[in-house]
Amino acid sequence: MRVPFIDLELQHAPLRKELLQAIGDVIDAGTFAGGPFVERFEREFAAYCDVGFAVGVGSGTEALWLTLLAMGIGPGDEVVTVPMGFPATVEAIHFTGAKPVFVDIDQRTYTMDPTALEQGLTSRTKAIIPVHLFGQSADMDPILEISRKRGLRVIEDAAQAHGARYKGRRVGSLGDAGCFSFYPGKNLGALGEGGAVVTTDEALARTLRMLRNHGQSGKNRHAMIGWNSRMDGIQAAVLGIKLRYLDVRNHQRRQCARRYDRGFAGLPDLIAPYVGDGRRHVFHIYAVRVTDRRRVISELEAKGIGCGVHYPTPIHLQPAYRTLGYRRGDFPVAEQCAEEFVSLPMFPEMTPRHSAHVIAAVRMACGMGLTV
Ligand SMILES: *Cc1c(COP(=O)(O)O)cnc(C)c1O
Repeated sequence: MRVPFIDLELQHAPLRKELLQAIGDVIDAGTFAGGPFVERFEREFAAYCDVGFAVGVGSGTEALWLTLLAMGIGPGDEVVTVPMGFPATVEAIHFTGAKPVFVDIDQRTYTMDPTALEQGLTSRTKAIIPVHLFGQSADMDPILEISRKRGLRVIEDAAQAHGARYKGRRVGSLGDAGCFSFYPGKNLGALGEGGAVVTTDEALARTLRMLRNHGQSGKNRHAMIGWNSRMDGIQAAVLGIKLRYLDVRNHQRRQCARRYDRGFAGLPDLIAPYVGDGRRHVFHIYAVRVTDRRRVISELEAKGIGCGVHYPTPIHLQPAYRTLGYRRGDFPVAEQCAEEFVSLPMFPEMTPRHSAHVIAAVRMACGMGLTV
C-alpha cells in the first residue's frame, strides 16, 4: 500500500465538473485579471474569516509584502517574526527595505513564543508577524497585548491556517491584517497561484486595492506607486467553489490527526503535535519530532509512504540570511525542531487504512512495531 504525502488528484476528482463549469463561466465573461469573480470571492472569503474586507492578490508572499507597504513600513524599520517557517515571510519584510528580526518559537506549539517577543523589540520595531505554523494559531492574546502597549501593528501569516481558530475567533481576524496563500497544496488551494489579505480596517483595504493595481485610485489615476498583484479571475472562481468545502475538509484533517495521535500515544522517541489552549488546529501539516529522523524517513520510504521535513534549516541559518548576523545557538528551540521534525502524510481524503499503515511504519522505526 502506498500513501502519498498529499494527493491533489483525489481532492479534485469529485469537484471536476463544478470547477470546469466555473472556469467556463470566467471564459464566457472574459474577466480574467481582477473583476467580478474576484470581487465575489473577496466577499465570500471576508465573511468566512469574520472580517469586513478581503483583498485578493497574486500570492501569499505578495499579500505579506503589500500589507507591510500599505502600513508604511520601510527602510529604518524593524519587523519581528520567527525563524521557523517558510522564508516568504522574511522576503516580504526584506523587500520593503525594513529589517527582519527573529524571536524563538514555543517548544510545544512551534509558534512565536510571546515570552521571547520583548527581546526582539527595539525603538525601531514597527510590526510583528506571528506565523500560524502547520495550521495552528500562534498565542495571539499576549502578542496583541504587547503590540497595543507599544503601538505596533500585527500581521498574521495565516498562509498555513485557513479556517483555524483562536479562542473561537478565525485566524486573520485577530491582528490588524491576516495574510493567506492559495498555493495549490495549502488547505484552501487554487489551481495556480493566489493570495489574499483580510482586515477589519477599511482604509488599509482601500490602500491594498490601489497597491495591487498599479497604485490606481480610479482608471488612469495613479495616486501612489503600486504593483501588479491582481488576483486571477479563474483562480477566484475556483477558490469560491473550494471555499464551500473548506470546513468539512479541515474537519477530516483533524480526524486524521486524531488517529495519528492515538497511534503514537506512549511512543518514547516521538513527540506528537500539541494543540494549545483554545485553539482549533487545521493540520496543514502533521509534524512529529523524532530523535532518529533518518531512520524514520527511510522506514517510511521503504513502505511507500511519502513524507517531508518542514523545515530542515531555520531561516536564520540559511545562506541568504547570513547578512542578518545571526548564528547557530541564537534560537535553540527552532534549531532543535529543525533537526527533529518529520511531516507525515496529511490530506482530507486519507482513510483509516492509510493512517494505520503510516502509524505501523513510524512505530516500527521507533522500535515499538510489535505493540501495534
Ligand atoms: C506558503 C506560505 C507563504 C507564501 O505563500 P505563496 O502563496 O506561496 O507566496 C508564506 N508564509 C507561509 C507560512 C507559507 O506557508
